[in-house]
Order: sequence, then C-alpha cells, then structure tokens
Amino acid sequence: MNIPSIEQIIKEDIEFLRHCPNKDHCETCEESVCVMIATVADFPTAYGHFTIVGFVNNKDAKDHIMIIKGDLGDGENVLLRVHSACLTGDALGSLRCDCGPQLHHALELIEKEGRGIVLYHQAEGRGIGLVNKLRAYALQDAGYDTYDANVMLGFPPDARDYEIPAEMLKKVGVKSVRLLTNNPEKVAELEQYGIVVTERVPHELPPHMHNHAYLTTKKERFGHMLELDHTRE
Ligand SMILES: [Zn+2]
Repeated sequence: MNIPSIEQIIKEDIEFLRHCPNKDHCETCEESVCVMIATVADFPTAYGHFTIVGFVNNKDAKDHIMIIKGDLGDGENVLLRVHSACLTGDALGSLRCDCGPQLHHALELIEKEGRGIVLYHQAEGRGIGLVNKLRAYALQDAGYDTYDANVMLGFPPDARDYEIPAEMLKKVGVKSVRLLTNNPEKVAELEQYGIVVTERVPHELPPHMHNHAYLTTKKERFGHMLELDHTRE
C-alpha cells in the first residue's frame, strides 16, 4: 500500500495540533519526540527537480529539512542520504572535508534513480555547531586530528543523534532505506531508531591533498569504510 501524500500528512498534523494539550509550548513538551511537517514546496535545482519539505520538532529547535525526489511509493528501499550540515563544505567550497561533493553527488544519484531523499540534518560539526567546528579547525591547524580536537573542546568525538532524522523518515512513510554513507555508526543509529537499512551504498568521493588527513582520521578513528588509496596524487 502506498504511503499518504505529504499534503495529507500535513492535514493530519494540523488536526493533531488542534487537539494537542501541549500545542502552545512545544519546546518544553515532555512527550516523547514529536516531529511534524511544517511546509512543502517545489524545488528545482541544478541537479534536478525535487520537492523540499520543512520540519519542526519538539526536541532540538533546529530546521531539519528533506529534499525528496519522486513518489516514495511503499516507503521500502528508498535511496537516502542523511547529510549533516556543513556550511563551509556544502556552500563555501571548503577543501577541509568531503561534505560538499558528498551532498551534491547524493542529489545527482537520487535524481538519476528518480526516487529518494536527502535529509539535511542540522548537525553542523558532527553536532557541536559551526563556531565550535571552527575552533576544532584551529586545533587541527596546530596538529591535532578532528577526533582529538573535538575531545579537547569538551565534546564527544561525534555528538550527533539520529532520533529526529529517524522520526522524520517515519513521518513521510519511509520503512527501509539504501543508505548512502561510509559511516557504519550512522547505519546502526538509524536501525536503533527503527529504520531498516537494507543496504549501505558506499559514498566515497576522490580525496585530494587538502582532505586526505581528515579522511584518514575518519577511516582510522571513526571506523568509516573508506578506500582512500586510489588517489594519493
Ligand atoms: Zn564538512
């Protein structure tokens, strides 16, 4: 059976909100995680024609979004990228990481497949925020790797949590995914929150001299499944 349309989900959310006793104080609501679709709009891009969906939730006050291609049908085996926001990489062309190419390649792949989702997760700097990420960059400039830099700033090496992304996926009817990632932790986290990962689709872009050390840390200290050896030049 096909999942309900986004318009239908929004209607149901509005109806739910009409009766929710906590509707005027979402931020302090003690109920378990509550995710709603706030709006949906047409989204033509350089990579293809998508639909963009804005979400709200009662837990982290962040503007997580989805870029959806095509009809999600039965919600099974949806090609998915859960992309952690990286302003410097996604929008400014930073060569310190591989985020920008990963995001744009995911949009290309999903466009080509004709069905899928990029979930843009507002978890900048692996969850520590943009300015703290820049602090970590300064520590990396002084010789520490991205893992140790986060720890020195008083954060876990990876502060991301995937409960909200998983609930967003359930909201639009996604049951199982083929996940574009090199990060086995991301697979485990989504599964822990009830999204079946039927396949991990490797999502490695060619490294270059500026991000090779960063990617090596990802491989060796975060356990990411990266080859890295095909472009040492
Ligand atoms: Zn990045």
